Amino acid sequence: MGRSSKDKRDIYYRLAKEGGWRARSAFKLLQLDQRFQLFQGVRRAVDLCAAPGSWSQVLSRHLRGSEGSPAQVVAVDLQAMAPLPGVLQIQGDITKASTAQEIQRHFEGHPADLVVCDGAPDVTGLHDLDEYIQAQLLLAALNITTHVLKKGGTFVAKIFRGKDVTLLYSQLRLFFPDVTCAKPRSSRNSSIEAFVVCRGYSPPEGFVPTMDNPLLDPDAGLALSQLAGPSRVIVPFVACGDLSAYDPDRTYPLQLDPARPYTYVPPPPPPPPPPPIPRPVGCAGGGARGPPQGEEGEEPELRDPGVGTPLGVQGAPREEPRARGAACEGEGAACEGEGAEGEGAACEELHRLSLLD
Ligand code: SAM
Repeated sequence: MGRSSKDKRDIYYRLAKEGGWRARSAFKLLQLDQRFQLFQGVRRAVDLCAAPGSWSQVLSRHLRGSEGSPAQVVAVDLQAMAPLPGVLQIQGDITKASTAQEIQRHFEGHPADLVVCDGAPDVTGLHDLDEYIQAQLLLAALNITTHVLKKGGTFVAKIFRGKDVTLLYSQLRLFFPDVTCAKPRSSRNSSIEAFVVCRGYSPPEGFVPTMDNPLLDPDAGLALSQLAGPSRVIVPFVACGDLSAYDPDRTYPLQLDPARPYTYVPPPPPPPPPPPIPRPVGCAGGGARGPPQGEEGEEPELRDPGVGTPLGVQGAPREEPRARGAACEGEGAACEGEGAEGEGAACEELHRLSLLD
């Protein structure tokens, strides 16, 4: 789809261009603020995963600060961002302790009142994997937030309402008594994207923020063993069964009972193969679903030249978001075009997933 036809279709894209916003996402934060008054009394704010910068623009335009003490905004992203007045930029990774330290340095040790995160990883097109990575990014955002947010402060982050979202809510509730999932009007209905608005930051008693995360840092193992207090969970370990029963690590003679000679028992036959999965008519190679969030795919359209464009499936430019479980017939061509030939197995797998959902 060319730019001009997109202009006609997407009102928020058009409004973003008219309003000088760097991305249509600006409206999502504005609409979240309309509902939750996020900006009230905020003097220090952090924008995690900020590029190309429309949320930072919103923050710098809407935060008032106080007499003689203007509001401070710090924006963090892996990618470089064109400068914005009143916004300090850190080109860095939100999973790194050094990034947390840099934010703290900029605020001269004062904690932030508000942390927002519209972070999104590059999508793979495999929905379960994309949802998992998005969840990990949200947890990384929560992790760095515990280093920089004041008690009672607010954290807002993008979330995919996938099938494991309840686990994420539970994790957020450990740190915030008030967690709401909000869908701004400007976020497409066809996207599983939403935003968690977490208010009243109150970490568990004795909690010490740490950037050690076994899921994100393969070298974290050592430090994890040194975690203490509520950061370290120890569950009971019990041995069960008769401890004088057979030892699984020992070798025993075939004839266990001297009174009963050994007789060979053949193993059970293997299970029959599963029935073949029927293919809908007209589908050449599969029905891979498109990226789940879609919304991020629009950002590059408004990005500054020179700022990297995230890749979609197979490194191709991202497509328009498709509804989850979209009919295979409509996507057969996309599937063929996305490597059905060279990657038959992966394509089959995507097809199977879309049929099962
Ligand atoms: N809120 C932004 C705006 O309004 O312009 C759009 C953010 S864009 C959807 C998602 C951003 O997340 C990308 O620029 C990407 O570089 C960033 N990102 C992803 N993983 C990151 C990480 N580990 N650390 C920092 N930024 C990250």
